[in-house]
Amino acid sequence: MDLGIRGKTALVTAASKGLGRGCAEALAAAGVDLVICARGEAALVKTASELSETYGVSVTPVVADITDATARARVLEAAGAVDILVTNAGGPPPGVWSDWDRDDFIRALDANMLTPIALMQATVPGMMERGWGRVVNITSASVRAPVDVLGLSNTARTGLTGFVAGTARQVAGKGVAINNLLPGIHATDRAVALDQGLADKTGLSPEEAKRQREATIPVQRYGTAAEFGATCAFLCSVHAGFIIGQNILADGGATNLTI
Ligand code: NAP
Repeated sequence: MDLGIRGKTALVTAASKGLGRGCAEALAAAGVDLVICARGEAALVKTASELSETYGVSVTPVVADITDATARARVLEAAGAVDILVTNAGGPPPGVWSDWDRDDFIRALDANMLTPIALMQATVPGMMERGWGRVVNITSASVRAPVDVLGLSNTARTGLTGFVAGTARQVAGKGVAINNLLPGIHATDRAVALDQGLADKTGLSPEEAKRQREATIPVQRYGTAAEFGATCAFLCSVHAGFIIGQNILADGGATNLTI
């Protein structure tokens, strides 16, 4: 399927690895020019050159912590007038509900709620003026069903979900579609860290912890960044203009819901 977005420009944050990279790669494959960021320079520059060489699109890497306001301003300046925004940042650390103090919550809110909101506030007005735009926020399956050890994520991402629900419907009339894409467990560095967290807590080996987590997913495996990226690229396509303010689960059926 031709996604109809060849020649458009996208900003994908936190995109040197994992799900952000999967989204950047699927957009590059659709002919979209990219600005991508991450904190670590080596992996970011490597990803940028791999994507531009493979897909023949322009990929501008900006080394930046997207949760820092000054660094974010640099990213936005490099990106200029974007047609497509994919927001992503690292997830908060696991723990127990009684562990976290105000500073922990502020850090999680900054990374996983206020940063994507600031990115939308900076880019959506231009999309509305030009009459076309797409935003996909990478959130988490934890907004549909809380994950015990990810209370900071449960909390911050549900705040973002509320913001998107209200905002998406206010900007849709100007051709801008904002949606959230909710990963369940995917095979990325983050998943390996969470396997290790379960191993440390239970005494299982990391491989046993992985098998135990895979068994909770109806498809019996972790998702891939490529599958996730392809779904994201569809939501950024010309075909997705009637999908507004939705929370799309990509979790292999793991969240046990009727609707
Ligand atoms: P990952 O494999 O750890 O990759 C994270 C990417 O984001 C890397 O490129 C990393 O590069 C970059 N990054 C992290 N923090 C950043 C920051 N503050 N500023 C700029 N770049 C940053 O993570 P992932 O698995 O792709 O997960 C992406 C998001 O989805 C996370 O929020 C995660 O919590 C959420 N999620 C993941 C899963 C899963 O199973 N994978 C499930 C549910 C939700 P640098 O470290 O160099 O900055």
